[in-house]
Amino acid sequence: MKFVLPELAYRAAELEPAVSARTIEFHYGKHHQTYVNNLNNLIAGTEFESMGLEEIIKKSDGAIFNNAAQVWNHTFYFNCFTPGGNGVPSEELLEAIHESWGSFDDFKKEFSAAALSVFGSGWAWLVKNKEGKLSIIKESNAGTPLTKGMEPLLVIDVWEHAYYLDYQNRRADYIAALMQIVDWDAVSSRY
Ligand code: MN
Repeated sequence: MKFVLPELAYRAAELEPAVSARTIEFHYGKHHQTYVNNLNNLIAGTEFESMGLEEIIKKSDGAIFNNAAQVWNHTFYFNCFTPGGNGVPSEELLEAIHESWGSFDDFKKEFSAAALSVFGSGWAWLVKNKEGKLSIIKESNAGTPLTKGMEPLLVIDVWEHAYYLDYQNRRADYIAALMQIVDWDAVSSRY
């Protein structure tokens, strides 16, 4: 199977000022594209060639896993945000957030703190776990909740390539800006 870079739902400049067009051009146009290209090259002539992306992620390891998971994680990431953001979670999701963290503000604090404290390259995920409860998890490198039987709802990429052009070392500022442009309609639809 030949994978292709999925289209973005917005133009490169539309997430500004949270994420610059230049960051989108590199992060989506170069990094995400490279994971797609690497994956296609790595699976050529292997048992993985005929599999879908999620199956590859669940059955592979090493370089194939890393590139497949990064393709999936980045596609998910770019679908978590929308120009200007769009408000608050659905009533149902909000109720679950209140149950786990007390308030929407406290959830945002916990989620931001998790993203800030990922050591090195990785991801902070809001997931629905096997028991149907909400949880915040941190993953390193290409880590993804897909391999753990969890359903991802929202993610922040904290690899430096996601924010260095705009924020240099100020990961906290990047996280705060991203939280302003979350597509809560999309997040809620996954719950
Ligand atoms: Mn990235």
